[in-house]
Amino acid sequence: MDRDAILLTPGPLTTTLRTKLAMLRDWGSWDADFNAMTAAMRRQLLGIVGALDSHVVVPLQGSGTFAVEAAVGTLVPRNGHVLVLDNGAYCKRMGRVATLMGRRTTVLARAEHEPVSAEELDAALRADPSITHVGFIHCETGTGVLNPLAQVSEVCARHGKGLIIDAMSSFAALPIDARDITFDALVAASGKCLEGVPGMGFVFIRKAVLAGCEGQSQSLAMDLFDQHAYMERTGQWRFTPPTHVVAALAEALAQFLEAGGQPARLARYTANCRTLIDGMAQLGFKPFLHPQWQAPIIVTFHAPQHPAYDFTAFYAEVKRRGFILYPGKLTKVETFRVGCIGAIGPNDMQQAVNAISEAMQALGLAPSH
Ligand SMILES: *Cc1c(COP(=O)(O)O)cnc(C)c1O
Repeated sequence: MDRDAILLTPGPLTTTLRTKLAMLRDWGSWDADFNAMTAAMRRQLLGIVGALDSHVVVPLQGSGTFAVEAAVGTLVPRNGHVLVLDNGAYCKRMGRVATLMGRRTTVLARAEHEPVSAEELDAALRADPSITHVGFIHCETGTGVLNPLAQVSEVCARHGKGLIIDAMSSFAALPIDARDITFDALVAASGKCLEGVPGMGFVFIRKAVLAGCEGQSQSLAMDLFDQHAYMERTGQWRFTPPTHVVAALAEALAQFLEAGGQPARLARYTANCRTLIDGMAQLGFKPFLHPQWQAPIIVTFHAPQHPAYDFTAFYAEVKRRGFILYPGKLTKVETFRVGCIGAIGPNDMQQAVNAISEAMQALGLAPSH
C-alpha cells in the first residue's frame, strides 16, 4: 500500500491532504498570526453551536479526556455532587474522572444497548437534591448509541442543575444549538467530526457559569477559568499551544464550512453509515444496536460466530487491504467497531466492506448467517 490506511476509528481519523499540508509550517506562540488563527478558530467553533452570545469556548492542549477532566474540575465546586448517566465506557470514564478529582460522584447505570433515560434522571434528581451537576455523553462512542440530549437538557434545566455534555464524537456532525439546548459546558475535540488532527480539546462554557468558576479547579494546567482569563487578556494560550494542531484545525474548519457545515457533515456520515450497515448485512454481520438507537458515528458489530474467528488476525487481514478497524469495548459480547467519521465517503465505505469480505475469505471464515 503506497497510501495510508483509511482509519475506521473514532479518532484519530483520516484527514484531507489540505488539512495535513497545513501542518508544514512552524508558528510562534506569541506571534500575532498565530493568535489571530486561535481567535478565528474560537469564533467559528462558537458559531457551529449557535453559542456566540451565550457561551465562551476555551481550547485546551491534550486529548479529549483532558478537556472532560478540565471541564468537570473547573465547573463542579469541590463540595459539589455529580450524577453521571452511564450506558457505556465513556460515561464510566467521566464518572472516574469526577471521582478521582474528589468530587462526590453518583453513577446512574443503564444497559449498554439502549440510551440513558431522562425519566430516570428526573427521578434521581427528585430523590437527591444534593446533586449539583449532571454528566452526560451525547454519543456513547463505546457502542455508538445516541443519547437523548434535548430531553436530558430539559430535565436539568427544570431542576436547576448544571449539565456537562461530552459531545466529543457528535459535535459538528449531529445538530446541537445552544439557543435550544441549555447546558453549562459542552466538550469536544479537534480530532473527531471536525476532521482535524488530535491534540486539542475545547469546552463551551456558559458565560454566567464561568464567572463563578475561579479557583474551583484543583489543577493548574487544566483550569479552564485561568486558561480563558489568560487568553482573553493576552490573545495567547497560557502554556505552549499545540500550534500544528491549531493550524490543521483552522484548515479543517474552513473545509467544514465550505462543504455546508453540520448538515452536510451529518449527511455524509449518514451515507457512510448506511453503506456500511447494508454492505455488512450482506456479509452476514449484525449490528449490536437496534437501528433506532444507532448514531451515524460508529457502528458496533457482533463478531463472526465462527470458532476460528480471532480479532487480531481479522484486523491484520483488513489492514493489509488498507483499512484500520477498531476493537469492541464491550465486556460480555465479542464485537468490533467501525467508525463512519473522517474525510471519507460512501465509496470508501463500500471498499472497506469489500476488504472485510476478502479478509473473511482469506481467513476461511464462513459468513456468520
Ligand atoms: C474520543 C472520545 C473522548 C476522548 O477520548 P480521548 O482518547 O481522550 O481523545 C471522550 N468521549 C467520547 C464520547 C469520545 O468519543
